[in-house]
Order: sequence, then C-alpha cells, then structure tokens
Amino acid sequence: MIDLRSDTVTRPSKEMLEAMFMAKVGDDVFQDDPTVIALEEMAAGMFGKEASIFCPSGTMTNQIAINVHTRPGDEVICHRYSHIYYYEGGAMMRNSGVSVCLLDGPKGQITGEEVKNHINPDDIHRPVTSLVEVENSMNKGGGTIYKFDDLVSISEVCRANGLSFHLDGARIFNVLVENGGKPDEYAQLFNSVSVCLSKGLGAPIGSLLIGDKHFIRRARRVRKAFGGAMRQVGYLAAAGIYALSNNINRLKIDNDRAKYLGNILSNLSFVEKVIPVETNIVIFTLREKETANEFLGKLKENDIHALPIDAKTIRFVTHLDFTDSMLLSVESCLKNLSK
Ligand SMILES: *Cc1c(COP(=O)(O)O)cnc(C)c1O
Repeated sequence: MIDLRSDTVTRPSKEMLEAMFMAKVGDDVFQDDPTVIALEEMAAGMFGKEASIFCPSGTMTNQIAINVHTRPGDEVICHRYSHIYYYEGGAMMRNSGVSVCLLDGPKGQITGEEVKNHINPDDIHRPVTSLVEVENSMNKGGGTIYKFDDLVSISEVCRANGLSFHLDGARIFNVLVENGGKPDEYAQLFNSVSVCLSKGLGAPIGSLLIGDKHFIRRARRVRKAFGGAMRQVGYLAAAGIYALSNNINRLKIDNDRAKYLGNILSNLSFVEKVIPVETNIVIFTLREKETANEFLGKLKENDIHALPIDAKTIRFVTHLDFTDSMLLSVESCLKNLSK
C-alpha cells in the first residue's frame, strides 16, 4: 500500500522501537519520568525557550496554548483555514469559550497589516482581542512557508498591542530544512510554539508545547484538566528524542519528493491547478469532469491512498515511509490515468 493520506501514518522504525524499549521511565504526573524530562529540556533548548511540555497530540498543545493565552469571551485572530479553527472540532470555543476573528489571505497566510486592522478597540461591545495564531508550514494553504519578515511584522504588531502570539509549528522542521532557518530564531518571535513529533519526524505519538517557564507551568495545569497528563510516558518520549536526533535533516527528502509529484501533476491533462509545492504537502484541483472521490477511487485500485480536501481538490503528503520506488509507482500510475 502506498499511503499519501498524511505524514502521520509512519510507523516507528526498528531503531526508534529499540530506543523506546530501552527508555528509563517514571511517573510523569509526579514529574519524575527522566526520559520525558530529557525530551522537554531538549526541545526547549533547540527552540531557545525556558521550558516545554510533552502532550498526546498537536490539537492538545494548540488548545492548551489557546487556553493559557486567553480568558473566556476573548477573541483569537487566525486564518480561516488554520488548523486550530478548521480542523480541531471547534475545540477553542468548546474548551476555552473564545471567539474568533477569521482572516483571509493567499496561501493560508495572514499579515501584520491585516492583524493590526482587526484588533478590536477598547469598547465594551467588542470581545477583547488577546491572541494571534499562525501556522508554518500552512497545511490547508498547501504546505506553504511564511516569509520570515512577514512573521516579524506580525510579532511586532502583537508586541505593540499586548497580544500573545502562538505558532502552530506542527511541521516547522519541514520549513526549516527548506529555508535554512534556525528553530530559536523563529521561536523568539512567539510566546509559544507547538511542534508535532508524530508527523514527518516519525514518532508514533506526541507533540511538544514550548514557551517560558511561567507559561509552561500554567500549561501543565491545563494539560491535567484536559486529561492529557500521562504516567510512564517516557517510552513515547524516547521515540520523540530519537526523532529529534535523527529524523530532522531527512525531511528535505520528503519535501523534494513532494515537489517532484507537484511537477508531474502540473503536466497531467486532468489536473487544473497545483498549488506550488514548498514542503511535503501537494494540493491539486481536478478539471471539470471528475470529482475528487472518483479520482481517489481510481488511485485506490492501484493501492494508492490519499485524501480529498473538497469536491475537486486532493492532498498528497510525503513522509518517512514513502520511498523512491513508491514515488515511481505513483508517477507511472498518474501518467497512465492521464492517457
Ligand atoms: C496535524 C496537525 C496538528 C495536530 O494534529 P494532531 O492530529 O492533533 O496531532 C496541528 N496543526 C497542524 C497544522 C497539523 O497539520
């Protein structure tokens, strides 16, 4: 089976499983699991922040951040297609009772200017704007990368207006291997950063929320209340340490394979448009006749699996378990379908 549905589908490698098997563990709710502590210190160090906290999912790290940065009734500014709004089941309204101000913008990205124009005035009729969120890479925007200067500009607006700034960096390392950016340069623009270990980095489970000590102390309280505090979870943290130590640089390979797929697709008769590929996500739209589900059915007959984004749009995501020989199989299948 060739699985292009998501980079979450990777299975732990033999070496990762060995690292998990060997992990020293304790009870992380009592904060005495040495492997979790090591992972949290490692991540904080990489991103040049004081502390971090290991959580079951990226949805949870994002939602904890929102909960800590806001009070009920506040407003969060983010893009209409942001994962925190579009793909987290209404969690911020459910868990934190916040309102959203949804911005539009090409590639799923927002700008400092747009943020500035949407900060609510100090007027009792209006919700209090307290948090701005961006996603990098931007999943639904086509795995696109923010220009660093655009992030600087949003961060300046946040600072000048006393707003918190959160980065959903589920795939931040796919960005950094592409543009040569440093994790700490990016992190200094934000009050908090969320990073997924279970995507392209290949760990089975887990995300990290990174910030200053005071923020992470509050996050630890919220994680408990959200039911995300875990016990001998060092076995999973060991997979995270293995992933951060071994699987970052190779993300460039995933990005390159995605670009190769993007190139093939843009030359096929049945493809209307491919969003220019910047990282490991390929989003393309079909021409009139066919629906995404019909097309996905044909791929499935060739044991290739992917997901629809809407009625005409499909997403491919490359990852650790998607090999060059699979890439060639997909290429020949796509070319056959276009005959
Ligand atoms: C996958 C993803 C997350 C977190 O998803 P979980 O499945 O909850 O770990 C958050 N943000 C983005 C942009 C993602 O792609």
